[in-house]
Amino acid sequence: MYRTHTCGELKAEYIGQTITLAGWVQRIRDLGAMSFIDLRDRYGITQLVADENTPAELTEVLEQLGREFVIQATGTVRERSSKNKNMATGDVELELKEIKVLSPSAVPPFTIQDDTDGGDDLRMKYRYLDLRRSAVRKNLELRAQMAHAVRSYLTENGFIETETPVLIKSTPEGARDFVVPSRMNPGEFYALPQSPQIFKQLLMVAGFDKYFQIVKCFRDEDLRADRQPEFTQIDCEMSFVEQEDVLNTFEGLTKYTFKKVLNVEVDNFPRMPYSTAMEKYGSDKPDIRFEMLLHDITNLAQSKGFSIFDSAEYIGAICAKGCAEYSRKQIDELTEWVKRPQIGAKGMVYVKYSDDGSFKSSVDKFYSAEDLKTWAEKLGAKPGDLILVLSGDKAKTMDALGTLRLEIGNRLGLRKKGTYKPLWVVDFPLLEWDEEGKRFFAMHHPFTSPKPEDIALLDTDPGKVRANAYDLVINGVEIGGGSVRIYDSELQAKMFDILGFTPEQAKAQFGFLMNAFKYGAPPHAGIAFGFDRLVSMFAGLDSIRDVIAFPKNNSGRDVMNDSPSPISQEQLDELYLQLKKHD
Ligand code: ASP
Repeated sequence: MYRTHTCGELKAEYIGQTITLAGWVQRIRDLGAMSFIDLRDRYGITQLVADENTPAELTEVLEQLGREFVIQATGTVRERSSKNKNMATGDVELELKEIKVLSPSAVPPFTIQDDTDGGDDLRMKYRYLDLRRSAVRKNLELRAQMAHAVRSYLTENGFIETETPVLIKSTPEGARDFVVPSRMNPGEFYALPQSPQIFKQLLMVAGFDKYFQIVKCFRDEDLRADRQPEFTQIDCEMSFVEQEDVLNTFEGLTKYTFKKVLNVEVDNFPRMPYSTAMEKYGSDKPDIRFEMLLHDITNLAQSKGFSIFDSAEYIGAICAKGCAEYSRKQIDELTEWVKRPQIGAKGMVYVKYSDDGSFKSSVDKFYSAEDLKTWAEKLGAKPGDLILVLSGDKAKTMDALGTLRLEIGNRLGLRKKGTYKPLWVVDFPLLEWDEEGKRFFAMHHPFTSPKPEDIALLDTDPGKVRANAYDLVINGVEIGGGSVRIYDSELQAKMFDILGFTPEQAKAQFGFLMNAFKYGAPPHAGIAFGFDRLVSMFAGLDSIRDVIAFPKNNSGRDVMNDSPSPISQEQLDELYLQLKKHD
């Protein structure tokens, strides 16, 4: 037996016992007559002590020890003279009797403790060392707990966990595919799944009724804090259900996981149409922890001689409560902030509603106090508030105003961590018009069903068709999304047609699905949650990288094993591949 206990469990009740621990040397403090070693394992840290009672033959071993050596230590548990209340084992220490080096360590490239001196890149390069830090490990423990909760809930609710292949034919989810060349089929390629979408629908045709899988998905797209080229979904599909059934089941899953893992009770999830989310929050993933809604003041603000507003398609405003005191400098800085290319506003108008009831604005030349008062009334602004106005193209301005709303929310401390406000955003448009390509794209994916009452519009005004599609949003983060599916091959063929596939292309790419639909497809619907995002939300983190054991960096590289990397000429030959020159 390598150990009798772990480094996280010794307490006063163990005093006097002889025990053996095994772990990594986190720190050594040599005080001459005494030396202390912090011994770490997954469970915690225990202080080992060598003093005048320590057998002389241990001195030689102690002298060789360095950070991150793996050792086995036997000794007697004794009370500490100075206790450490911040440590689970802080009341006791282990008086060393025997010590054995199990594995020496080179000097680690950074200190492996919570407040490490290692920068991001270095820690990623030595991720296995970074993972020894409890702060990092805890995120992965949380992840495992959550996966366990999800499995329990879904299994108890009759879902069958089913694996689907990783080497597949492309499934469109709006990103580029990663492809894998086939040696046995020269010149042909598999795609890695952007999601198991088609397979789960085929499982419904197969009569599986309720499917789930915690599954890796792959999308070759530009990376951000909440995106990785490979990520994990909680992927589900159900038969003989309507949208409400899916929402209720997965609202249940979300509540169960919050309760089980964080012991947090969340309220029932409100349902908000996409159009309301856009108009009131300027986002299809509204953060409803706070109000500060967008208001359309186009009618109130036009035809007063201010040409910028007069020529705008939309004029929108938000009310920053209690911010009338903002200085010139603060307003200028905020104006610069909204003008950044990521936000793209051309400028910003402000109206200060002072405590004494007077108005001061950047457009005083055009608007009287009465005019500004009508704006304030529309926004429910009170003396002491600051009104911020953006104008221009409707969609772009709402989006910019939505981003400004979040920024003000941050500045006013309204986006509190540890408060969770989930909601369902429903009634998404089925299609999205791409101005550049002059064609429609599926807003969700091509298998999403239009709302039955909107089907007629497919022929006359496809852009107006709403989908039976839904997203789960928590605190402004899109956690999941899904839809009721088309299960009729003719409607599916029509959808492919609208999306610009010729019948031949549709057949070549999705023939097997359309064929399957000919053999009795049940009505079905499904959803997928971004598991990494859900875990990082539970962990109170902003980046999903911290909840992935071996993540990739912003250029999609694994800096630890240095991939992607070139392959040998032999491998290329075997795959019948020839590389083109690139810069
Ligand atoms: N496959 C979809 C996605 O990955 C989710 C779904 O419709 O079930 O977003």
